[in-house]
Amino acid sequence: MSATLVRGLKCRLCGKHYPKEPINFCTEDFGPLEVDYDYEAIARRVRRSDLQRRPFTMWRYRELLPLDGEPTVGQFVGGTPLLPAPRLAKALGVRRLWIKNDAVNFPTLSFKDRVVAVALSKAREFGFDTVGCASTGNLANSVAANAAAAGMTAYILVPAEIEQAKIIGTTVYGARLVRVQGTYDQVNRLCTQIAFKYGWGLVNINLRPFYAEGSKSMGYEVAEQLGWRLPQHVVVPMAGGSLIGKIHKAFQELQQLGWVSPSPYRVHGAQASGCAPISTAVKNGWDSHQPVKTPQTIARSLAIGDPADGYFAIRVIRETGGWAEDASDSEIAESMALLAETEGIFAETAGGVTLAVARKLIEQGRISSDDEIVLCITGNGLKTQEALNGVLTEAPVIPPRLEEFDRLLASRLATSAPESIRPLAPATA
Ligand SMILES: *Cc1c(COP(=O)(O)O)cnc(C)c1O
Ligand SMILES: [Zn+2]
Repeated sequence: MSATLVRGLKCRLCGKHYPKEPINFCTEDFGPLEVDYDYEAIARRVRRSDLQRRPFTMWRYRELLPLDGEPTVGQFVGGTPLLPAPRLAKALGVRRLWIKNDAVNFPTLSFKDRVVAVALSKAREFGFDTVGCASTGNLANSVAANAAAAGMTAYILVPAEIEQAKIIGTTVYGARLVRVQGTYDQVNRLCTQIAFKYGWGLVNINLRPFYAEGSKSMGYEVAEQLGWRLPQHVVVPMAGGSLIGKIHKAFQELQQLGWVSPSPYRVHGAQASGCAPISTAVKNGWDSHQPVKTPQTIARSLAIGDPADGYFAIRVIRETGGWAEDASDSEIAESMALLAETEGIFAETAGGVTLAVARKLIEQGRISSDDEIVLCITGNGLKTQEALNGVLTEAPVIPPRLEEFDRLLASRLATSAPESIRPLAPATA
């Protein structure tokens, strides 16, 4: 299909060209490699109007993704809703707010299904039948599920201390999960050695250049769902710092292809205060980040102390005129609850980080109340329920009798009950 649309790989630091192979760094300077497309050939091959006939999945944009043939893994990934968020907008004091909701991505409820669909389809093209990853949880879930459906063997390494739901949501698919006593960065280093020694296709190690491209589909979808235009602000959670750069790359490509009119946009990055190497660098005006040795945050999915794409994330933020902020554990949990209460969306801790940071940027005047804003919600709250321990009102337990319910409604307990029944129990001033 698109064999001639990808020229090969290219070093992001020195620009040296490499063939299309399962490699991820430049032998000259250890810079990360990136897929190099022939955009003129792409423009000749596909027009924007051609997309209308295709299903609303990430593969609608297949000419801009690095496969040689048809996708063979994750064919139904992407096509998540872009929702207007009027009640949340009101709470934040802004007028035009959207949520790109990858908390409902198929099949494992996070944006990682996008990167895995590309990486495992590419792994098949390269002839790997054993795949895997280093993960903070969501990538583990997605590699496990998609590998199972594709009949591939998966070895998955995670830090020992991740959420229970993310462990079960990996082993249930029959993946070989290994919990490593250490930080994500230590897991990542181990996986680099494993990929080298055993010759497996590890999606975010030796397949990383292809893997990372999958994130662009989130950006394409946002632009198309806005009616083929770009928002003024996007707020993106950052772990390894890849997604944020790929959303920017997607917007650049769409302008280059003439599929959207050029318009200024700012890309903002969000991290947890307990692991904020990138936002700290942005706030201090540094060109590169300083690694965080021992991340400590409830946002475990974002807890990467030494982000592989930190340098590039900082550059994208700076070049687009964006900013970065970080949120404490209590701000994260409160924001998870705010998003759920106002828009009916239960996001994971990373979503709490994104919303809490958006709120700060609005308060700081970096995003003004009339601007159009897209929040990237990347994971599902059912996977990180522990984060809400002690934050939500506990549900009262009553005997099955009407007078017990009446008493409850009249009692002070009812003042903390959901809004719908609150009017019946007027607060005494
Ligand atoms: C992996 C992940 C991210 C960010 O990923 P990058 O490594 O920065 O591309 C954001 N949100 C969630 C929920 C994730 O799992
Ligand atoms: Zn190089």
